[in-house]
Order: sequence, then C-alpha cells, then structure tokens
Amino acid sequence: DMNRQERQVILVTGASSGIGEATARRLAAEGHHVVLTARRTDRLDAIVGDLQGAGHSAEGRALDVTDRAAFRALVDSVIERRGRLDVLVANAGVMLLSRLDALLVDEWDRMLDVNVRGLYNGIAAVLPHFQEQGTGHVVSIASIGAHEVVPTSAIYSATKFAAWALTEGLRQESDPGIRATTISPGVTESELADHITDPHAAKVMVDYRAAAIPADAIARAVSFAVSQPADVDVNEIIVRPAAQR
Ligand code: NDP
Repeated sequence: DMNRQERQVILVTGASSGIGEATARRLAAEGHHVVLTARRTDRLDAIVGDLQGAGHSAEGRALDVTDRAAFRALVDSVIERRGRLDVLVANAGVMLLSRLDALLVDEWDRMLDVNVRGLYNGIAAVLPHFQEQGTGHVVSIASIGAHEVVPTSAIYSATKFAAWALTEGLRQESDPGIRATTISPGVTESELADHITDPHAAKVMVDYRAAAIPADAIARAVSFAVSQPADVDVNEIIVRPAAQR
C-alpha cells in the first residue's frame, strides 16, 4: 500500500515531554518529517538532536498554542519551506485538577486557553492550507476526560469534551480528503499531573497514576491513525491501562 509508506510532514504541539515527545519520536523513526513545537525549546533541541543523530528528519520550533498569530505564522512557514503540511497532532494540554469549590479560577482559564483555544487556533492555522491541498489530518489528543467526569475534573473534562466536539465538527464539515481523529488516553506516564496545585487533587492523583502506561502506547495509536490509506478516517481511539477502572 503506497499510502502507508509515504513520508508525511507532521507538526506536533506539546512535543517537549510526555505523549507529544513520544509521538514525535515514533513518527520521526517511522520516516516522517516531524516539526516538534512547544514553549521549552531547550527540551525540543535535545529531542531533535537525538532524532537527527539517529538519521531521522526533525526540526524544533518555539510555539505557545494560545498565541493564534504565532500558530498561523509557524504553519505558514512550514508550508513555505516543506511545500505542504499533512498532519497536525494537537497534543499540547494542561490538567490542573481541583474541585470547583476550591475556586482556582485562573487555572480554569489556563485549561480553557491551552486545551480549547490552543486546539482551535491550530485548526484555524491549518484549515485554509488543508482546503487548498485537498488533504490534511488533525489528530487531537483528548482524554478519557472527554467521556467522563469525576470529582476534581469538571473544568478539565469540559475542555476535553470541547476538544472532542471540535474534532468531530471538523470531520463532519470537511471534504473527504481532510481527516479528523480524536485519541483519548487513559492514565499515561508524563509530566501532566506535576503541575496540579490543589493539594486534594494532587493526593488523589498519586494512587490513580500508579497504573500509568508508557507514553509510547499513545504514540502507537497516533501512528495507526496517520498511516491509514487516504480513504480511511480513524475517528476515535480510546487507549487506557488494562488496570484502569
Ligand atoms: P506533559 O505535561 O508531559 O506534556 C504537555 C505538553 O504540552 C508539554 O510538551 C508542554 O510543553 C505542552 N504545553 C503546555 N502548555 C502549552 C502551551 N501554552 N503552548 C504549547 N505547548 C504547551 O503531559 P502529557 O504528555 O500527558 O499531555 C499531553 C496531552 O495528553 C494533553 O493534552 C493531556 O491533556 C493529554 N492526556 C494525558 C493523559 C495522561 O495521563 N498523561 C491522559 C489523557 C489525556 P511546554 O511546557 O514546553 O510548552
């Protein structure tokens, strides 16, 4: 199958750690050209150094996904230099869990900005190019939290329900050449929970995270979705630890 072997140009957001890093490493090793983006460029430089050292095709670029103009400019520059962009892996996200009555409203705003605005900024940046190319693929990293709400996850889950809706809406509205995939991970090894400030939520996470699976388990799902022939659109994959209830 020729489509499966084709080298694609793939932009990954939040590629400096966790699932984004594992996805960038896997897709580069599979022969794609990967543009790794995040705010921590020192991390990106180290990962890109590894990948290039192994003979893979990768580059690192600074990007805060909440900056819509920067997102657009970066996508434009990739297309100018590489001639096209095939896939956006919209992975950047934050999970600042807390009960609503803790009223950590600034953290609510932060989650909305990164997880929702960051995703639709990406869609706005790539969609005109995808329409011009007649092809393109957005892979959104949502969460089990896109399907269920637990105490402390109300706002996080709201942002992930939104990510699910945005990706599904893109699928419904797009020409057949443009594909949309939501990947919903369960608990996965990463730095995601390290940023929780609420002591109650942080404590709950300690037990919860014991079952975590490696980030490459999610990267394999992304790889599966982007390696399908052009007439196949994988709409959603849920991947959770076998031990997660
Ligand atoms: P990490 O914290 O390890 O990675 C998050 C990534 O997002 C980092 O690379 C970080 O890079 C980036 N990021 C955060 N804010 C911004 C921003 N404003 N602009 C650009 N990049 C940003 O966690 P994960 O790998 O776990 O998270 C990846 C995705 O997976 C998230 O969307 C998360 O919600 C989702 N997920 C994770 C699960 C898990 O158990 N780990 C379960 C379900 C979903 P930098 O700080 O350098 O900008």
